[in-house]
Amino acid sequence: MQSFPSDVLLKLQQHLAEEKQRVIARIAQLTAQDPFSDPDRLNDNAASDAEASEESSHDRFTAMIEEMKEELVRINSALVRISQGTYGYCEECKDMIDTDRLAILPTATLCLACETKKKK
Ligand SMILES: [Zn+2]
Repeated sequence: MQSFPSDVLLKLQQHLAEEKQRVIARIAQLTAQDPFSDPDRLNDNAASDAEASEESSHDRFTAMIEEMKEELVRINSALVRISQGTYGYCEECKDMIDTDRLAILPTATLCLACETKKKK
């Protein structure tokens, strides 16, 4: 089994750790902006129109937060794979994932060939 270059791995680990902080901050930011988490909202005698628009923006926030949480899961699992030494190998064919691909998509768990196959 070919080993993943450790300098590349170290860079990716740093990058992923930064991404993780960024995503956590984004989730906190989105949660704070969500009208449903606004503490003043309960005292607000808002008309039903405002309620409806709050509802739809709440849904949008929820969707964005969910997306961020999924990204966080992918980042965490990539970090775990780095620490276990299994990072950079395709989950399907066990080949090394192209480093160019990982540079663009550090949380990738499949090589390009398997990813393409999966989409079909
Ligand atoms: Zn593969």
